[in-house]
Amino acid sequence: MLTVSNLDSFYGPSQALRRVCLALEEGETLALLGRNGAGKTTTLLSIMGAHRQIQGSIKFQGEELAGMPAYQVLQRGIGLVPEGRHIFPKLTVLENLKMGYIGKKKGDIDHRSFEQYLAYVLDMFPRLEQRIKNKGNQLSGGEQQMLAIARAMGSNPRLLMLDEPTEGLAPVIVARIHETIEQLQRQKVSMLLVTQETKLAFSVSTRILFMEKGSICYEGTAQEVACQPEISKRYLGV
Ligand code: ATP
Repeated sequence: MLTVSNLDSFYGPSQALRRVCLALEEGETLALLGRNGAGKTTTLLSIMGAHRQIQGSIKFQGEELAGMPAYQVLQRGIGLVPEGRHIFPKLTVLENLKMGYIGKKKGDIDHRSFEQYLAYVLDMFPRLEQRIKNKGNQLSGGEQQMLAIARAMGSNPRLLMLDEPTEGLAPVIVARIHETIEQLQRQKVSMLLVTQETKLAFSVSTRILFMEKGSICYEGTAQEVACQPEISKRYLGV
């Protein structure tokens, strides 16, 4: 479904990614782990077309995405829940959801109206229905994260990339996000997950990729990595 080959990424003169290669099959959840500054966010932003100083190939369902702007990548069926949520603070929950909604896309066989999308996300996160008229800056961190995921589902993505979706959240909300990921998996949404929560990564992912200094340095099944704590210790220091 997604094949990234020899992806290099730059911030001005400094190189953040070096020959990153990864492949994700339809229906799969991959976790991308690594220390701060390893290059995880840059990988997601580069795939999304939100960071464009890149070289290499990013193929999604057979189509080359490298060089495409983010709105076109979104239309091809990739969504991003960004690190830090990036909720519009002065807009209400409903308005934030409207910002994420994309109507009919080229070749879309499962087109949904805004009302259908709204019903879908409010069923997923009933809490957002109670907060529908509240502004983004009136929400708790957990509610903002739910809204960020709900908004990213507005383009009906086949691949959802989540960047630190549990960062700074209470254990009860982490458990709720965990359930949401499993719910999306049942709906056959493929996922690329960046997280510091190794337990979450081991539980929901098929494979784990570790990054170090801008490159993928280790890849294994979740079971292999979970059974060998020395691997996580080496690449995460935990
Ligand atoms: P974190 O968990 O801290 O977000 P990360 O693994 O997601 O870490 P990135 O944010 O992708 O890492 O950063 C990769 C490298 O790129 C780091 O060396 C970082 O300092 C650098 N970098 C990231 N954003 C910028 C930027 N806007 N300008 C310059 N350098 C950047």
